[in-house]
Amino acid sequence: MKCEKCGNEYPSQYFFTTPTICTECFKRLPVEEQQRLFTQLQYMNPVDESTFFRVGFGLRFGAAFIDIVLLYIVYLIALKFSGLETHLESIDRMQLFNQAYILANMEIFYEIIRIAITAALFTFLILMIPEILLAGSIGKFILKLRIASANRTPAGYYKLIIRFLAKHAWFLVLAPAYFVKAEFLSWLFIILFLSTIVGCFYALSPKAQAFHDMLAGTAVFRTRDLLK
Ligand SMILES: [Zn+2]
Repeated sequence: MKCEKCGNEYPSQYFFTTPTICTECFKRLPVEEQQRLFTQLQYMNPVDESTFFRVGFGLRFGAAFIDIVLLYIVYLIALKFSGLETHLESIDRMQLFNQAYILANMEIFYEIIRIAITAALFTFLILMIPEILLAGSIGKFILKLRIASANRTPAGYYKLIIRFLAKHAWFLVLAPAYFVKAEFLSWLFIILFLSTIVGCFYALSPKAQAFHDMLAGTAVFRTRDLLK
């Protein structure tokens, strides 16, 4: 395959940004020209050209897996420093299936859950805020992936915040659902959680966007494939 700008031969479409212009030449084009070509490509092709470069479900799942392992490790560390152990020591574990015992010690059990939820929120925010500030969680950084606008250009904070809220709303409802004991919050939590799980599998579709990507107008790319 030959690039119409530099005339270099490339082994596959992988090295091209448009069907006829290689990635290196495309990067050197003026922004107006890049945008014009994108518009043209979208007109020619119902599926956005950049879908070609989007990272699919497998790698994204890998990044999520790394994040979950890290979250769990930091969560355990946070619990260690939270005073949880003192409360656990004051519980008779032999009685954990004894309903009368649990009812009689409700205060301690609430305190344990309160500590667990606070530690979870704290851990989550520390590890996931990079998704907004740096356009990628730690798992994505390790796998050299980055969140960007669906057309491969860098995503602004506005899009990253929308995406973050759409993806993690279930988690952010978790604490209020516990502390404010309103039934609708529990249902909201369950609905948001299930729709997020289903939404993640949307990344299996040809557009390779999870539901939260569609809402925010983002997609995930390899860092090297991003347009500046
Ligand atoms: Zn070229």
